[in-house]
Amino acid sequence: MRIIRDIREMQAASRAARIQGSAIGFVPTMGALHEGHLSLVQRARSAASLVVVSIFVNPLQFGAGEDFGQYPRTFEADCARLEAAGVEIVFAPPTEQMYPAGATTVVHVEGLSEKLDGRSRPGHFRGVSTVVAKLFHIVRPDYAVFGQKDAAQVAVLRRMVRDLNMDVELIVAPIVREADGLALSSRNVYLTAEQRQQALVLHRALLQVESCANSGEKRAEKLRSTALAVLATEPAAKLDYLEIIDPDTLEPLEDVSQGALVAVAASFGSTRLIDNLLLPPL
Ligand code: AMP
Repeated sequence: MRIIRDIREMQAASRAARIQGSAIGFVPTMGALHEGHLSLVQRARSAASLVVVSIFVNPLQFGAGEDFGQYPRTFEADCARLEAAGVEIVFAPPTEQMYPAGATTVVHVEGLSEKLDGRSRPGHFRGVSTVVAKLFHIVRPDYAVFGQKDAAQVAVLRRMVRDLNMDVELIVAPIVREADGLALSSRNVYLTAEQRQQALVLHRALLQVESCANSGEKRAEKLRSTALAVLATEPAAKLDYLEIIDPDTLEPLEDVSQGALVAVAASFGSTRLIDNLLLPPL
């Protein structure tokens, strides 16, 4: 496994791979890797002959007062896991190369970036779309794999790829959970044992929506009330949003018969967690 830190070197490696006819599969991450990330690597492997994983904690997507400084950084362990998973290239650029002094160009997916997490984390999705656009220009992937865990991010990036005619196919991989239902997240390490238990309410609320939808309830407002009732059973959960929306436009739905995204965000202590569920069309 090659570890590349230099942007030009990554671009040259990508160019060489393409000349040799390799299809490049790309998994962008911020490191602190867990089984969720590794599932994306497997997905990339099934689509492409050369897999590149980036590890870059992107300052642009963290707001003032957020956890950029304390975000877990476990580079050595990450590389060991990626090597065991058969990854060919880890791309880990220094921040000064990604954002040299005077860098002022951004990619902003207007509208979508201000919904869900974008509402409570102003500038977050602009940071995400900017870094992913840059990484796409550097790695030049044929396929890029993202987790359904970050459903709003998927909507923003799909729109970016479409609007800017980027020549890459986005692949979305399902949410990987712990046995008890908690969605894997690099931020779970912040939780105390008690908060970790409290956080299970997110998945319980989503399962309740799923079971109501399966028994024929199509009205989004009814499904939403059901989820809110479950969330209310855990007073430690500070709800940010619970929305039933179109997965592409992130606009609220009245009815879920055409399919819907049920997305939730809540804080447990100072740790903000997100989770979601895709309801298939009835
Ligand atoms: P991050 O390192 O948190 O920025 O995440 C990198 C990628 O891993 C993103 O596409 C996430 O959606 C994805 N991801 C994070 N957690 C999970 C999970 N539990 N299941 C599936 N994908 C995930």
